[in-house]
Amino acid sequence: MRNHIVAGNWKMNKNFGEADELIADLVEKLESIDLVDTQLIICPPALYLELASDQSDDSYFMVGAQDVSEHDSGAYTGEIAASMLESMAIDYCIVGHSERRAYHHETDEQIARKVDQLLKHELRPIVCCGEVLEEREANKQFEVVKRQIVDGLFHLTAEQFANIIIAYEPVWAIGTGKTATPEQAQEMHAYIRSLIAEKYGKEVAENTSILYGGSCKPSNAKELFANPDVDGGLIGGASLKADDFLAIATSF
Ligand code: PEP
Repeated sequence: MRNHIVAGNWKMNKNFGEADELIADLVEKLESIDLVDTQLIICPPALYLELASDQSDDSYFMVGAQDVSEHDSGAYTGEIAASMLESMAIDYCIVGHSERRAYHHETDEQIARKVDQLLKHELRPIVCCGEVLEEREANKQFEVVKRQIVDGLFHLTAEQFANIIIAYEPVWAIGTGKTATPEQAQEMHAYIRSLIAEKYGKEVAENTSILYGGSCKPSNAKELFANPDVDGGLIGGASLKADDFLAIATSF
């Protein structure tokens, strides 16, 4: 069966001292919380990955990066290779976040290459998909998400696909305070699962964790996570405070 997963995307927030404090706060609070079957992941800026992974040893969260290079190594100034993440025992990495698609013009083909790099180095990709507002208003959300999933992921074998986590993040809901309704989330998650079932079979589809992202917070997490195809969340703003993040993580 698939896992419940709650992952925090810190984006480009927190200086070193603040990051250290937030991690320490999480570690302390996790000592008295029973997360049962929920996998907690934090994705801080790359500079703080080591800090986070050093402190995650005795607690209950795993650490993920926010992006990775599509290349092996070499003259790519500013980039981070999957082999480097692997050498630091990082287990997860977000790929294809809408902010990277929008501001760095990332294509589905590049995202596919990043996924390949991560799998080659035994990291689990958290692959983001989701439509912008104009696409939703034109009722093109299914077409857009299908293209992102097919072009970004469907070159994988079923065995490789078993390592993929998908995050459905309607772009109009990210950082806007405007959340998808539980019905909208469930409808898209069920659609994504049906695409996976068509390509890889029912068992692979049933085992794939599909997370919701977009203004998920303590006040709405319960109703979103109550849906049968919503297996957790990718959390931006609300992952920057330990209490909010943990309230979401305990909303199943
Ligand atoms: C995100 O950026 O992945 C995200 C879901 O952000 P927020 O929760 O702030 O909408």
